[in-house]
Amino acid sequence: MPQHQHNPLLLAAPLPPFADIRAQHVVPAIEHALAQAQATLDEVLRASGTPGWATLIEPMEAMGERLDRVWSPVRHLHAVVDTPELREAYQACLPLLSAFNTALSQNTALYQAYRSFASGPGYTALSAPQRRVVDNALRDFQLGGVALQGAQRERFAAIQTRLSDLASRFSNNVLDATQAWSLSVADEGALAGVPASALAAARQSAREAGVPGLRLTLDLPCYLPVMAYAEDAALRKRLYEAYATRASDRGPDAGRFDNGPLLHEILVLRQEKAALLGFANYACYSLERKMARSPDEVLAFLRDLAVRSRAVAQAELDELTRFAAQEHGVASLAAWDIPYYSEKLKRRRFDISQEDLRPYFPVHRVIRGMFDIVERLFAIRIRDRTDVVTWHRHVSFHEITDADGTRLGALYLDPFARASKRGGAWMDVCRTRMRRGAKVQTPVAYLTCNFTPPVGDQPATITHDEVTTLFHEFGHGLHHLLTQVDIPSIAGIGGVEWDAVELPSQFLENWCYEPEALALISAHHVSGEPLPATLLDRLRAARNFQSGMQMLRQVEFALFDFRLHMEYQPGLDVLALLDEVRNEVAVLHPPEFNRFAYAFSHIFSGGYAAGYYSYKWAEVLSSDAYARFEESEVFDRDAGADFRREILERGGERDALACFVAFRGREPAIAALLRHSGIEPPPAADAA
Ligand code: ZN
Repeated sequence: MPQHQHNPLLLAAPLPPFADIRAQHVVPAIEHALAQAQATLDEVLRASGTPGWATLIEPMEAMGERLDRVWSPVRHLHAVVDTPELREAYQACLPLLSAFNTALSQNTALYQAYRSFASGPGYTALSAPQRRVVDNALRDFQLGGVALQGAQRERFAAIQTRLSDLASRFSNNVLDATQAWSLSVADEGALAGVPASALAAARQSAREAGVPGLRLTLDLPCYLPVMAYAEDAALRKRLYEAYATRASDRGPDAGRFDNGPLLHEILVLRQEKAALLGFANYACYSLERKMARSPDEVLAFLRDLAVRSRAVAQAELDELTRFAAQEHGVASLAAWDIPYYSEKLKRRRFDISQEDLRPYFPVHRVIRGMFDIVERLFAIRIRDRTDVVTWHRHVSFHEITDADGTRLGALYLDPFARASKRGGAWMDVCRTRMRRGAKVQTPVAYLTCNFTPPVGDQPATITHDEVTTLFHEFGHGLHHLLTQVDIPSIAGIGGVEWDAVELPSQFLENWCYEPEALALISAHHVSGEPLPATLLDRLRAARNFQSGMQMLRQVEFALFDFRLHMEYQPGLDVLALLDEVRNEVAVLHPPEFNRFAYAFSHIFSGGYAAGYYSYKWAEVLSSDAYARFEESEVFDRDAGADFRREILERGGERDALACFVAFRGREPAIAALLRHSGIEPPPAADAA
């Protein structure tokens, strides 16, 4: 078809030339890719005889990879250089893809083909990773309800549709409630204490809204600095009330975007869905794709963390209370006072702020230094390629090779914020490793951040928090890029249990605090000097400021989420359950009007239902993995080689636990996390 010849998404190029992709290419390319996928599926199902690896699994794996290779650049460009035309084309593709995927997961004939393969001699002859591919597919079919019959099947489909609608309404309510509220401040004096950067943003926001003076909103870049720095307690209280009651029956917009009814319906339907699939509750259903083996194991893990952290958290709160009383004459700390006095106390104790460190971290120095660090750790080489056309002049392209020059993978790095780019930082898959006969397709990743772009001829500099974010995302990137698995669904981050996927990312963050590593990533943008020892010491000391309180907060959210999905019955009082959890684990008790649960998008509209515990779960693994380097040295070559071979290269080809044990020589232990969080002291020998 001639019109396809100029569509870069349809060409068999190893990488799409992003600069040439136009919105009008998108829908025809996706339609074409879906038609190809359907043809593959039809062929697989038509094939006579017993289904085998080469006639069933391989074509299905290749089909999924091919479809994603066309869709991934579209999804990515929509996120980072969006235009109204591209967005329209993107939206037009979503229902096409969703219809195809739903039909695929409900395809009884395909499910039967997998089942008959799994029960035959072909399966027994497979390698362990190959068997895992088949097992994962069968599990996903079953969790997708393919085995249900008649009325149950229809009910399941209706629940799925309704749940996805409720999730999007839930997050829209949170977004709308956040945006609906604002506060105009005529006089800058009312914002005494707030940093200049936040004031400038508030002035800009007022200009854009066509109101005089400054405009405060509930967006985090405004909300957080006001809560941490505004001297006026009444102002902080107003913002806190508005924020803590978003999308609820309380507060300044009470009832306008109320998520209360949605939240209950979501919980009812999730339990019904789990019951249809034969699970006792939704928490059990959620654990099917996770490393944790049972609800009891998760509950015990969280409760143990709470018990161990409690004394430290209480001591931190006591210190804060004393500080506010003695230094500022505040008799009792309200919820809206905590961040404010915490910031003052932190400044007093460590004399350090994120802004102090910024001049030492020019972005390009940090990026090159980060590459140097992983080159040393994992014996790889990272080379800049300037001949690859990208979608923006700020985007760089880097190729990763093994010590012997073998090509391993490549990444696009897009560091700076700009209009038409979604906020936040993330790693996404451009292309996955896959073997086709003798040829191997190497993986490619997108690494996206939103750092402040360079102004004039000044180099762009970033805060230490942002350095950590970059390392975090690059850790995910290495998991995707260093994989040696040739089957897409278990290569890289594919098929890795949900609660273990943050292991490489959190692991790499640790090098942001190591003096030897900081020497590689820091250089004052004027003098070129590395971060001075005094600032380095303060940075390391401040790392665990109030970490006991932070730990309990995460445990509170995780325990609430998990119990909610385990215990929910129609009529259950969600707020009472949250109170119960707080009484068990928290040292801080928010005011009665707080409606945190009504805006808990992670669990009601994100993928974290009965899975919020994953953050801490994975941190046990990442802390304990890093401890092996502490026990020897931070650039220990053997430990680096083992981490690469046993974890990064393995992807999802075996259990996360097996990967960890192969690296560490034993099962994960919690001690390192507690020590790194300042909750339990290091052993006496280390302390000396
Ligand atoms: Zn992450």
